[in-house]
Amino acid sequence: MDRRIANIILIGMIAGAILGVLGGLWLSDFMLSIKFLGTIFLNALKMVVVPLVVASIIIGVTSLGDVSKLGRTAGKTLAYYMATTGFSVLVGIILVNLIRPGQGVPPIGAEVPEFIAGKGGGTIVDVIVGLIPDNIFGAAATGQILPLIVFSLLFGGVLTVIGDKGKPVIAVFEGINAAIMKIVMLIIYFAPIGILALIGGIVAQNRESVDKLITALGLYSLTVIIGLLIHAIITLPFILRFFGKKNPFRYFVNMGRALATAFTTASSSATLPLTMECVEVENKVDERAASFVLPLGATINMDGTALYEAVAALFIAQIYGIDLSIGAQVIVFFTATLASVGAAAIPEAGLVMMSLVLTAVGLPLEGIGIILAIDWFLDRCRTTVNVWGDSIGAAVIGETREFNK
Ligand code: ASP
Repeated sequence: MDRRIANIILIGMIAGAILGVLGGLWLSDFMLSIKFLGTIFLNALKMVVVPLVVASIIIGVTSLGDVSKLGRTAGKTLAYYMATTGFSVLVGIILVNLIRPGQGVPPIGAEVPEFIAGKGGGTIVDVIVGLIPDNIFGAAATGQILPLIVFSLLFGGVLTVIGDKGKPVIAVFEGINAAIMKIVMLIIYFAPIGILALIGGIVAQNRESVDKLITALGLYSLTVIIGLLIHAIITLPFILRFFGKKNPFRYFVNMGRALATAFTTASSSATLPLTMECVEVENKVDERAASFVLPLGATINMDGTALYEAVAALFIAQIYGIDLSIGAQVIVFFTATLASVGAAAIPEAGLVMMSLVLTAVGLPLEGIGIILAIDWFLDRCRTTVNVWGDSIGAAVIGETREFNK
């Protein structure tokens, strides 16, 4: 996409977001009436996710050439995900212990929300079993990206070892990938309006809880936001500079449209088409690395979510006056990391996974009811950091030996 047009669209997206907030506060009926435009934008993004994930993983794997390279790349990618996620959780745990946002906060609204009751985040075994789809079309139809990734990795890997028979199949997926990226470009033109309508609708719907951002739950929100900011503007740019060998500021500006979409949609997976566009086309990261790292990252690498899980769990402990030992906080560290891996890349998934963390250290699930009111906002913030972390992962992996041209 032409740089000038890309900039105009980015400005349009920011203007859309600002007008959306103002409209949501003062023209809420109008904003609710145009909310469907946001839904169209969101649907259009979701529409391309399944073919994009499948095609890009398959061509990512096949372009690596040999399977041993795939193994090394996968290892390095997972190491990057785990290290950055673990670091963000650590920042969250330190901050929540320093700020102690839960002290003196009454447990108002403490009840297990309906969408969590009886559902929960499942166990670790469920997450592992869920990796293998019993029906790939079923997984695609229900938006379960992780099993699709596993299948695509397998399929791509096998295509490289069947020789000539695999070549036309690879060519088909290359064509699909190029076509889908073109569709993504078309959807991006619609982004400013989509963002205006989505933000306007969400603010209009949550007007009452906007004040909660600054009152009872204010300190808690602030703790999450400070943690996310530390991760997003110190830790990750540092990694990008030294391991990804890129200018963090320029990289950030080039990621603008994807980050704005992440904030608006609160879904890493709906943002994936734009993340790929911004990383590959704008930031010129090696396509072979990006097409492998980004779909996987959107699903399992969630630094923002992990940090939030840890802060929220310890905040709930503080509200109930439960002093968690160092040992229990270590458990929070590991379960928050795992919960972020298991969380689907869709809105509020992190909140659902909270039950995993709370149960692990014996905290009351009712605590989720307390933080529910402002989750719509924190969800957007953490999703933005999730996508930022994925994009930097692509740059880091793109600089590894396997991709040296
Ligand atoms: N909404 C987040 C995402 O898609 C997941 C979460 O709820 O934390 O990245």
